[in-house]
Amino acid sequence: MSKARKRAKALAKQVMEAMRQAKEAEARAVALGEEMMRALAEAKAEEKAETEARTIIEYPSGRYECAQCGHSTLFTEPTQVLPKCDNCGATKYKGHEPKVTKIEPPPPKRYTAGMYQCGSCGTRSAVAEDCDELPECDFCGRHKLEPLN
Ligand SMILES: [Zn+2]
Ligand SMILES: [Zn+2]
Repeated sequence: MSKARKRAKALAKQVMEAMRQAKEAEARAVALGEEMMRALAEAKAEEKAETEARTIIEYPSGRYECAQCGHSTLFTEPTQVLPKCDNCGATKYKGHEPKVTKIEPPPPKRYTAGMYQCGSCGTRSAVAEDCDELPECDFCGRHKLEPLN
């Protein structure tokens, strides 16, 4: 066997090995991508309360008068829930207007976190956070990421 032939044989072996490793890496990337999607679903469930519109009502501290029996009660701390009247058990009071705070959720981002694929070179990218602008492709540097379904 010629020297060049031997080298070609050795290189063929290396090509096979590199392909095998590439396949393994590919499978690992897919598995990691799926794991990320699960983590994202979990994160969404956990953060649900923070991203929903809600109203917080808080009564300031001070002297309140029971609307039913006129009994006067001093609230030393601001409270979200007025306690029952010591005298008659009613929970309606005269005295102070509650402070109402409306919390609006941040507007949704244009792109949701997930797996994307470069429309130019085909490389897959993991986007871990919702964003208004997708990052460029890690491999070719172009702004061509598209959702991977
Ligand atoms: Zn009362
Ligand atoms: Zn690319």
